Amino acid sequence: MVRYGEKKVRSIMSKSGIYGVKYAINPYIGCEHGCVYCYARFVYIKMGKDPLEWGEEVIAKTNAVELLKREVVANRRGRVLISSVTDPYQPIERTKLLTRRILETLQRYKYPVVILTKSPLILRDLDIIKKFNHEEVEAGITITMLNDDDRKVFEPGAPSVDARIKALRILAGNIANTFAFLGPIIPLFTTKDLSALLELIADAGVKRVVIDKLNLKARNWESINRALKENYDKAKIREFWRILRDPYYYKKLKRKIINEAGELGLQVDFCY
Ligand code: SF4
Repeated sequence: MVRYGEKKVRSIMSKSGIYGVKYAINPYIGCEHGCVYCYARFVYIKMGKDPLEWGEEVIAKTNAVELLKREVVANRRGRVLISSVTDPYQPIERTKLLTRRILETLQRYKYPVVILTKSPLILRDLDIIKKFNHEEVEAGITITMLNDDDRKVFEPGAPSVDARIKALRILAGNIANTFAFLGPIIPLFTTKDLSALLELIADAGVKRVVIDKLNLKARNWESINRALKENYDKAKIREFWRILRDPYYYKKLKRKIINEAGELGLQVDFCY
């Protein structure tokens, strides 16, 4: 059971070190998608909370829009990522509408945006997203694996793979800069269906795919290991960690992805 709360914060636009964006906006603290590999759990470490509890609580920043209306005027215009350490379209957004109202404000003040989510709920806001100049909005859906039983282990609170692929198709039909975020690539789980995943992404009409590796940070290895132990046999778990110790693993994978994506006409950008 996810616990919900509310909080007033002091600012809502934070400077971002992420390549290609100037600011990040996170309407919520915590994320009920609760992905076991999520390293946004560093937020919990900073707050003195147990990072293994990531996914169990979501706090809405109730004054987000009020603050944003001031900050868009005070700050210099620049690309805004929604979001970096929470999912802007997790279930609570259905009723809180913070992301929707943030987008309305950014559009009114002509701030370019990049939206990244795992949820088809993004489609609710297509009316606003389509009001941005087409070069000023990028929308991405994250897909990390094809098998939905595995997905339930790694992303227990997130929408199904099928729902995300369907959403990607609709998004690509409406937004020129739609991308699929294939990340993190999880050894054995993403890779066993990697070719089929790339084909599905291309078939959905998406032209660009962004790839990231699995980053072991903020004690996410503890939640990954816990999930592996609860769901898979010892041999598979040993193999999983053995692959991750190979310093050339992701480099070798890069070549394979570039070749396969190239054949499908997909542009590929790597975060690693
Ligand atoms: S959806 Fe994103 S922010 Fe939320 S738990 Fe998963 S990886 Fe973390």
